[in-house]
Amino acid sequence: MNSYLIALGSNMRHHRFGSPERVLQAALDELDKRGIKVMHTARPIRSAPLGPSLRRYANSAAVVKCKLDPDELLDELKAIERAFGRRSGGQRWGSRVLDLDIVLWSGGAWSAPGLTVPHMAFRERRFVLGPAAEIAGDWRDPLTGLTLRQLNRRRIRLESQPIGACPT
Ligand code: ATP
Ligand code: CA
Ligand code: CA
Repeated sequence: MNSYLIALGSNMRHHRFGSPERVLQAALDELDKRGIKVMHTARPIRSAPLGPSLRRYANSAAVVKCKLDPDELLDELKAIERAFGRRSGGQRWGSRVLDLDIVLWSGGAWSAPGLTVPHMAFRERRFVLGPAAEIAGDWRDPLTGLTLRQLNRRRIRLESQPIGACPT
C-alpha cells in the first residue's frame, strides 16, 4: 500500500457543489469512491491567488492510501479534476474549479516526464505547508530531510523577515 500527501485547491464555485470549500469536500468524497482511501484531512484555509487569477483559493491537504503508483494516481487525480469541470490546456495558475497535486509519496522520490514527487514548489508555499503540517507534521521531505512541521515553521520565519532581508 502507498501513502500520499495530496494538496487540494479551488478558486471557483461549482454549479452543483457550491463554494470552493464544498468543492474540496466533494473531491475528497470522490477519492474515496474511487478506492483511494482518505485517512486524514486538514481544515480548509483561504489563501491569496498565485499568478494571473484574482479569486481567492480554498486550500486543504489529505493523506490518502491506495495501491496505485504515483503516475497512476496522477491519472486518477486528473480525471477527477476533469469530472469537476476543469478544462485542460487552461492557463497555468489560472482560475480552476479543482487542483489536485501530489506533494509527497511514502516511496520517496519519483521523477518522470509530467510528474515530479515531491512536488517542486511545495516548500515555498504556505497554503500547502500549513494544512500539510496539520495532518502529517512528522512526515519527512526526502530531499531536505526536514519534517513538514519544520518546513512550515521555516516558511513562517522567512515570511516574517523584513522585505530585502537576506536569510542566513
Ligand atoms: P503547480 O504545479 O505550480 O502547483 P498547477 O498545479 O497550476 O501549478 P497544473 O496546470 O495543474 O499546474 O499542472 C501542470 C502539470 O504538472 C500537470 O499536467 C502534471 O503533469 C504536472 N505535474 C508534475 N508534478 C506534479 C505533481 N507532483 N502533482 C501534480 N501534477 C504534477
Ligand atoms: Ca497546484
Ligand atoms: Ca496541479
